[in-house]
Amino acid sequence: MTAFKIPLRQYVGLLRHYLRSQRSSIMGLAVLLVAGLAMQLVNPQLIRYFIDSAQQAETNEALWIAAALFIGVSLLQQLVTVAATYISENVGWIATNKLRGDVAEHCLRLDMTFHKSHTTGSIIERVDGDINALANFFSNFVITLASNLLLVVGILILLFREGWIVGAGMSVFVVLAIYAIQYIRKFAIPHWGKLRQISADFYGFLSEHLEGTEDTRANGASDFVMHKFFSLLRVWLPVRIRAFLGWAAMWITTLVVFAIGNAVAFALSAYLWRNGSITIGTVYMIFYYTELMAKPIEKIRTQMEDLQKADASIVRIRQLLDTEPAIRDGAGTPLPAGPLPVTLDDVTFAYESGKATLDGIDFRLEPGQVLGLLGRTGSGKTTLARLMLRFYDPQSGVIRLGDVPIRDAKLYDLRRRVGMVTQSIEIFQGTVRDNLTFYDSAISDERIVRVLGELGLDSWFRSLPDGLDSKLESGGGGLSAGEAQLLAFARVFLTDPGLVILDEASSRLDPATEQRLEAAVTKLLHGRTCIIIAHRLATVQRADCILILDNGRIAEFGNRETLAADPESRFSRMLEVGMEEVLA
Ligand code: ATP
Ligand code: MG
Repeated sequence: MTAFKIPLRQYVGLLRHYLRSQRSSIMGLAVLLVAGLAMQLVNPQLIRYFIDSAQQAETNEALWIAAALFIGVSLLQQLVTVAATYISENVGWIATNKLRGDVAEHCLRLDMTFHKSHTTGSIIERVDGDINALANFFSNFVITLASNLLLVVGILILLFREGWIVGAGMSVFVVLAIYAIQYIRKFAIPHWGKLRQISADFYGFLSEHLEGTEDTRANGASDFVMHKFFSLLRVWLPVRIRAFLGWAAMWITTLVVFAIGNAVAFALSAYLWRNGSITIGTVYMIFYYTELMAKPIEKIRTQMEDLQKADASIVRIRQLLDTEPAIRDGAGTPLPAGPLPVTLDDVTFAYESGKATLDGIDFRLEPGQVLGLLGRTGSGKTTLARLMLRFYDPQSGVIRLGDVPIRDAKLYDLRRRVGMVTQSIEIFQGTVRDNLTFYDSAISDERIVRVLGELGLDSWFRSLPDGLDSKLESGGGGLSAGEAQLLAFARVFLTDPGLVILDEASSRLDPATEQRLEAAVTKLLHGRTCIIIAHRLATVQRADCILILDNGRIAEFGNRETLAADPESRFSRMLEVGMEEVLA
């Protein structure tokens, strides 16, 4: 058979791990399948008995018994099939759900580097598509394979009982049949692999562009996207046709092979019957067994095929599970309480080994100080903020909060003590409460309502139909830009961090909202160290220190008033020209 990509040990390991809790269901399943198998083997014997007694026609009683048995066994067989399907579906779903949970959890633990380099579509394909492909592997594979092999062996043994010629003839046929089907398969399989790859590409492409519909349309890229769409479809169709032709060829081969098998069975039985060595009932039985043989051979073939699909999925899931987060959690040195002092010591960072985005950044903020972080677009301001929260680690240099290098703190602790308000707030589908607390039930409703009030969101809050239980749309569709920003502030207030990083929205808001935001920022800064990535003069005026980034390097750092008073400084020139113009 075709070589598999993974060692047997891994299959066994996977099956063991995910089926451990379901031992009794699997035992039950095995018993049912063996019982079903036995009934399949018994039925032809009953028919033979029926035919032979009918010919002798002495009494009707034997016929009745044979008929009743045949019907009874057939019915029972159906019941067994239903029960076995039910159990195996359950086993498969419980196992794959467990795996799905593990993979999803793993994806959540992976960091920005991973999520930036994988489209949502491709992650969904892993968590859903690939794992679905494993359902059968978990629930059915071993048992079906074993029971169908047993069935083939059982049929052959029963045929040998009728005479070695019949047995030997059928054994040769089975070997040839499997060989022929395997041979034709070789031509069909590669196309299936290609088909799956193309469909993954297609859905990756689709989900990426559905997420960005608004941008696509706004930028007039619709034609380009449609062009790409159609070219993907054009590649898809011929591959699909070839894959299905391959499948049809396989199917026809199977039909022909079994027609030949039947012919052989007929020829042999006719010969033996003329000899007088078998009865007409036996002739029918041999014929019936030959027909029955098609089923397990077909099943074994589909199981092996399925294993190969599972194989590819297992490899991909393994790869995903083996991807280690680049950010390792710290040992757990506790961060100091209250406003946090910040020290950056010669910090250098580059995204994916490119040119340094931040180069030799070196500064210190006293507890409670406000830093205004300025710089043209692309100068590295947001990147600096990401480093503070350890979304990425710098390649060299150390960031300290108080005396604690942030690599030594627990990530959970770090992200609780450092709050970030980004340019675009992520609203997920859920209640207002969950959006604000991120499911932290330790935060009381009173506190949430108080914070909303402090931020001037009380009239918005009163307009909600179900208070904190009101649903928000994912993406924040129902919120104005100002409200979204204020909600982001509320999140920060609720965790009460010692350092706040505020990546100010560069878009302009209406004056009333501006005012509310101003008041909220004042509250936000109180008793906290703060880094504000500022786009507007009003915000800059709050800063104690100013840091101007230029191409990832510090162009200027110092006390705001000193810099403003120095006509030579970049900052004072910026103020002169109007910083909105310089930084826009
Ligand atoms: P803006 O004022 O427009 O928000 P910024 O100063 O915040 O700009 P950054 O977002 O820090 O700029 O980007 C700094 C540089 O790093 C840019 O050249 C940008 O292209 C690059 N960059 C940002 N994010 C990534 C990323 N995830 N992967 C690779 N490069 C990135
Ligand atoms: Mg930015």
